[in-house]
Amino acid sequence: MNELKELIREVPDFPEPGINFYDITTLLKSARGLREVADRFCWCFMDRKVDKVVGMESRGFLFAPIIAYDLNAGFVPARKPGKLPAQTVSYEYDLEYGTDCLQIHADAIEPDDNVLIVDDVIATGGTAQATAELIERCGGRVVGLGFVIELGFLNGRERLDGYDVTSLIRYD
Ligand code: AMP
Repeated sequence: MNELKELIREVPDFPEPGINFYDITTLLKSARGLREVADRFCWCFMDRKVDKVVGMESRGFLFAPIIAYDLNAGFVPARKPGKLPAQTVSYEYDLEYGTDCLQIHADAIEPDDNVLIVDDVIATGGTAQATAELIERCGGRVVGLGFVIELGFLNGRERLDGYDVTSLIRYD
């Protein structure tokens, strides 16, 4: 875990004062780091018979297709409103201030698909919870959630009670 942690760049006060931003571009540019992330997720989830890997806009898109390829599964993007061209299913969720919304194509998940959710960071868990809700509304089964980084001090895992949550790097 520590080797991967060394590849994460911490940027204080980005994008606004008080936020410590965990930058995964320094991990992505490392051939060793990228391979280790892909291999470790693959080891964790290879026995789940994953049909689809869902990645959330935008940094989930950087990891989910690689994991999908390794698991011989398909990739499905969960996007902000107005980005997907065909019929969508939406889920609106609360932020600390205001609301946010995620969408997937209505035909992206087949009933009974085994679905893995992948994102770069789990912070409060709201994005991941919304994505799980979208998948289940489409009849899919969430068989796991994988995050490169878990911000343990924000307790996002508690919002995902009952789901199988894996993170590769943890900050407490
Ligand atoms: P949340 O819904 O609070 O779990 O937030 C998760 C989403 O916000 C992920 O898609 C991350 O890309 C992004 N995010 C939240 N906090 C951070 C942070 N401190 N550093 C980098 N990305 C973050």
